Amino acid sequence: YDYLVKSHLKGASLGRAVRYTLGRARARGGEWDSPMFRLAQQQFLKASQYMNLDDNIRQRLLFPQRAQMVSFPFLRDDRSQVETVFGYRVQHVLTMGPTKGGIRYHQDVDLGEVAALAMWMTWKCALMRLPFGGAKGGVRVDPTTLSKSELQRLTRRYTTEIIDMIGPDKDIPAPDLGTDEQVMAWLMDTYSQQVGHTVPTVVTGKPVVLGGSLGRKEATGRGLVYLIEASAAHLGLELAGATAVVQGFGNVGSHAARFLAELGVRIIGVGDASTSLYRRAGLPVEALLGHVAEHRVLAGYREAETIDSGELLELDCDILVLAALQNQVTVENAAQISCRLLAEGANGPTMLEADEMLHERGIFVLPDILGNAGGVTVSYFEWVQGMQNFTWTLDEINERLKATLLDAFQRTLARAQAKRIDMRTAALIEGVSRVTEAKLLRGVFP
Ligand code: GLU
Repeated sequence: YDYLVKSHLKGASLGRAVRYTLGRARARGGEWDSPMFRLAQQQFLKASQYMNLDDNIRQRLLFPQRAQMVSFPFLRDDRSQVETVFGYRVQHVLTMGPTKGGIRYHQDVDLGEVAALAMWMTWKCALMRLPFGGAKGGVRVDPTTLSKSELQRLTRRYTTEIIDMIGPDKDIPAPDLGTDEQVMAWLMDTYSQQVGHTVPTVVTGKPVVLGGSLGRKEATGRGLVYLIEASAAHLGLELAGATAVVQGFGNVGSHAARFLAELGVRIIGVGDASTSLYRRAGLPVEALLGHVAEHRVLAGYREAETIDSGELLELDCDILVLAALQNQVTVENAAQISCRLLAEGANGPTMLEADEMLHERGIFVLPDILGNAGGVTVSYFEWVQGMQNFTWTLDEINERLKATLLDAFQRTLARAQAKRIDMRTAALIEGVSRVTEAKLLRGVFP
């Protein structure tokens, strides 16, 4: 907080306003406090300085509107012991329509992380002009240690715990880190069992046979690559023959790598939690996908040099794709990042100070709320198809996805250029303005 007050507040009157807000934030927001939530708040406050934001709106948007925190029993397959597991669902803004956002299974999940992710969902949906506010869920568990039946039990119990919060007109979950189509199928089934009939629209990112959308699974990676193409055109970077490094080889990173390779981009480095691989001449993406399909992780792939995860980020390349976890580019390594374009598929991978260093060095950043918005955009298409009981073709979906993302990209770029600000701040202003306008029009109840 102090860093923000020191480094960003140039105008004295704005300085006072934000200082005041931060003072109250500290007093009232203690339960949300975490490095990620602070990052989300700082980014928002930074953007709000460029937009004369009404002080009461600033205060309202700094915190989630609703949150549920649960603990529940979880029985392992061997029935040896009952463990207590913690879960969360946070709804940041309810003004725009139902809330929307994924569910994350990870051993480090906490309330502050989920709250930060919910806030980013709000700006992401508003930037894309989708009729949703932001939400996020999470369970503090390492999903790689769970058997399939354990995963199913955990998912059904977590769904039951948060069932009053979700619904097709209320709050619509989707996959995130550590969850997938199968988890969404169990969630949808559990909800449907409770209400007594099948409700496909309660989740998105479910299998196609259960009412999922064509193209949803690869939408985040595909969308990121549409935006990389637009950014490359803006930067005058020829993609055929360009080099890329991809951090993260899950649903986002692996698809992004595949689509980039199809455009003739040479993937010189990839990494996941298990290992990082490097080959200057280019890695065979199809072979890596095959290896991961079989072994779940990149480790064990022998046809490339292994490097450490820190080195991976610092490889000299044209495009660096961050598609793993938060908090990757920090003051410690920002000066060593050596790319022209940094494309964020992950949420919150770049810390605030690092952002400024990248901006000063002229590195073009495709910020998370724009870069990874392809996922929630096709989630919206999935929800609409479900509501209308009518399905679209894959071509229709990809065309609309591309049009939606490029429209948001152009609005963001135009704003960034007009105000001489970085792309993240411009994207946030786009999102925050829309939510602010809606909040002011709806007024205060009672
Ligand atoms: N978890 C994804 C995200 O961070 C997708 C959310 C959704 O489709 O609702 O944007």
